[in-house]
Amino acid sequence: MLIAIPTETDPDEGRVAATPETVKKFVELGAEVRIEAGAGLKSGFLDNEYAQAGGAVVQSAAATLNGADIVLRVRRPATEEIAGVKPGAAVIAIMAPYGHGDALKSVAGAGVCAFAMEFMPRITRAQSMDVLSSQANVAGYRAVIDAAAEYGRVIPMMMTAAGMIQPAKIFIMGVGVAGLQAIATARKFGAIVTATDVRPATKEQVVSLGAKFIAVEDEEFKQAETAAGYAKEMSTGYKAKQAALIAEHISSQDIVITTALIPGRPAPVLITAAMVEAMRPGSVIVDLAVERGGNCELAKAGETVVSKNGAKIIGRLNVAGQVPATASALYAKNLLAFVETMIEPKTKSLAIKWDDELIKATLLTKDGALVHPSFKAGS
Ligand code: NAD
Repeated sequence: MLIAIPTETDPDEGRVAATPETVKKFVELGAEVRIEAGAGLKSGFLDNEYAQAGGAVVQSAAATLNGADIVLRVRRPATEEIAGVKPGAAVIAIMAPYGHGDALKSVAGAGVCAFAMEFMPRITRAQSMDVLSSQANVAGYRAVIDAAAEYGRVIPMMMTAAGMIQPAKIFIMGVGVAGLQAIATARKFGAIVTATDVRPATKEQVVSLGAKFIAVEDEEFKQAETAAGYAKEMSTGYKAKQAALIAEHISSQDIVITTALIPGRPAPVLITAAMVEAMRPGSVIVDLAVERGGNCELAKAGETVVSKNGAKIIGRLNVAGQVPATASALYAKNLLAFVETMIEPKTKSLAIKWDDELIKATLLTKDGALVHPSFKAGS
């Protein structure tokens, strides 16, 4: 059983799909592991550390992939790369399948079994494989760091001989995995933190982290969580009440971090241009939902926009990837936990259990076709 870890080809990607720690575990599980030279460099993992862990460091992507049974990646492989993977091999990555029909067809056409880690069911058994959570956690932390770096004042209260500095007010919108980490990080920095969400369960979580909860708590709010634990799209009436509340609150805030998402829908717009204009010059908004259209009307993917009144709106992409060593360490462990389910311990060989719910939920392509239920019919 040969596991390959090629270098990520996107120049903006600093993460890597395996660490020396996970390579050691794969070797203990009976695998032969090949790593492309330099694959871990941007995350601070050196070739000799992989070698010491029992991996074989090879010089090219082609040599890394040749004959591999399992290919571990952060991002979906490009067409040229997938051509070097043997048919039937398992290729495991964050596949970002929506809106990339042609790329998916090329993955399917190579005859590989592609697994999309973002489709991992959010059930107790798969918690250790939940890449959405592991990466959102890092992104929530990094969003506060990015905001602090762009903010022209300090975050905590300071008592100095030259006078007292007031603490920054930080508002977190959307209290899922990223939002909770942003609240915890902002609190550690000494900010005065408020947070909002449409799911009632978040109220207690916000308060337990020492922040104040702010929301329109009407009858619709009480029903806003789906059975799967996600938010529903709210009614026009609720959105209007929420907008009025946010407009008032936001004008007194120094930093806003937005993380609000609704599964399968564009991100809800929670901050209008008019609301930004009511903020003080030098205020900072970090929009973590920008890849899904953004929670702030003025946010632009991959850019920092400065509004007419001098507020900065940061729309950075791949925020977790800005903390590559930690994001990689967690992602690599997510992959290890998933691959372990594919290995037969007695024979130490690859034995994918095709009827396992984790396999069924994440399998995107097999035997030359797109097989995932979300893509089979419509694409
Ligand atoms: P997400 O990324 O889908 O959304 C982020 C947050 O935005 C959510 O809290 C959502 O309620 C909120 N939101 C959506 N629309 C909003 C609006 N109009 N205004 C304000 N907020 C809005 O969420 P997530 O981080 O993936 O987590 C969703 C839920 O799943 C949470 O309850 C989380 O604890 C749970 N979860 C469970 C597991 C597990 O059981 N294995 C793993 C991870 C997360």
